Amino acid sequence: MSDLRQLVGQRVADDNEAMVLALQLARASAEQGAVPVGALVVDDQRVVGIGSNSPISLLDPTAHAEVMAIRDAAARVGNYRLPGMTLYVTVEPCSMCAGAIVHSRIGRVVYGTTEPKAGVACSAEHFFDKAFLNHQVEIVGGVLAEECSGVMTEFFSQRRAGKKRLKRASPPASSE
Ligand code: ZN
Repeated sequence: MSDLRQLVGQRVADDNEAMVLALQLARASAEQGAVPVGALVVDDQRVVGIGSNSPISLLDPTAHAEVMAIRDAAARVGNYRLPGMTLYVTVEPCSMCAGAIVHSRIGRVVYGTTEPKAGVACSAEHFFDKAFLNHQVEIVGGVLAEECSGVMTEFFSQRRAGKKRLKRASPPASSE
């Protein structure tokens, strides 16, 4: 994560370029054994906050990539709200992150691949369309979707392979 700090302040020309950086942050999660999701906040084409999914390493169930990126950006710009900024995330946000996005007043969310079970932008729910919300967020999905889902697929297949190896390596149960 430390060398990823250099992403902060970088200029991004468009959504694709920003998502390439979010993918780097996703890979950092995988290296720590967490589901690979990466996020960043962009203000006026400049990266102002980064986050990797890290609930296990931080012992923090709220440490999803989006929340980490929002916290990082708010601290850096010195504002508890991030109006007009764009949040990029490799995977469709969950309900917790969707709530954080609305509270942060982020203007636009761009995600990569859908998350059929827990995603609330278009999969399990259409959270951002809810009438009770006092803030409207523009949502764009499917940016570099293949690359973003590929990182997830690779992580889960490696984890399954690792579990199989552990099973084979464990000694037979004692009969006593
Ligand atoms: Zn989340």
